[in-house]
Amino acid sequence: MISPQSYKWFFETTTAVEGHMHAVVRTLVETQTKFQHVEIMVTADYGKALVLDGRIQSSQADEFIYHEALVHPGLLATEGPPRSALVIGGGEGATLREILRYPSIERAVMVDIDGEVVDLCKQHLPEMHQGAFEDRRTELRHEDARAYLEKTAERFDFITVDLVEPLEAGPACLLFTREFYSLVRDRLTPGGTMTMQAGMTKVGELGFYTAIHRTLREVFPVVAGYQTYVSCFGTPWGFILASKKIDPCRQLAPAVDALVAERLKGTLGYWDGTTHQHAFALPKHVRKALGEQTRIVTDAHPLILT
Ligand code: SAM
Repeated sequence: MISPQSYKWFFETTTAVEGHMHAVVRTLVETQTKFQHVEIMVTADYGKALVLDGRIQSSQADEFIYHEALVHPGLLATEGPPRSALVIGGGEGATLREILRYPSIERAVMVDIDGEVVDLCKQHLPEMHQGAFEDRRTELRHEDARAYLEKTAERFDFITVDLVEPLEAGPACLLFTREFYSLVRDRLTPGGTMTMQAGMTKVGELGFYTAIHRTLREVFPVVAGYQTYVSCFGTPWGFILASKKIDPCRQLAPAVDALVAERLKGTLGYWDGTTHQHAFALPKHVRKALGEQTRIVTDAHPLILT
């Protein structure tokens, strides 16, 4: 048994007054790109992990929970089998991997601003992308996703926003605003859906999640929050599905199971009808906070996390 003192520890400040630690077996990469500080480390409990600007993005052991939760509710709520998808951000390639499980997908575009991060993930995290970047349906672009959405006229059945948090001086600050979500809505087909990771949902830290939910309600007819626990983050994590038509809260467990069987190739580790039902049934204090939030995030008043 190795003692805790013999490890190097990675300490992530989840809030200004709370943190989460991982014992590190070794560091594979530590560098600064044009956009962010990058670390890829092997942790004792979770295997490889990607860390950007000091924030853990995913770990080998539980990334299936995060990425399945991010992708499948959206692809199972499009009107008809999804044919095209856009990933905004997406670094590791695991979001893309989950999308490519749908044989109906003919085209999957991923727009991540940071080519250096994606190259490092390609090289060091093959367990996560599992060849998704080489799939003939994939188009990988390196540019600001907002600029891409502004110039493209293409419509997608599914758009997923898999971005880093909007940190001061980070690359994602103007991708969490009403104006940005309006662009996303306009680039969706009439039966399309979007999903996003929307920050932590732990007690006392619901301001970000509820403000994003409130902002999306200005833009989309259907907005449904859901959450899961991502144990390498050490906190429950919030997601939001916004849709032009289908409301995921009206999809019952057997219907979700039937859609999984019909639309997907292979088996999932996390998402099914029961998980869907559980995730969308937000607890009372979260629903209360959603109901009380009045803040709408705009380009003029963006939400920046510290
Ligand atoms: N799983 C993650 C989490 O927990 O937040 C997020 C996944 S992924 C690593 C986030 C990616 O968003 C990064 O690779 C980063 O380069 C990309 N990104 C940040 N700002 C962006 C922008 N303006 N346009 C496109 N991609 C952006």
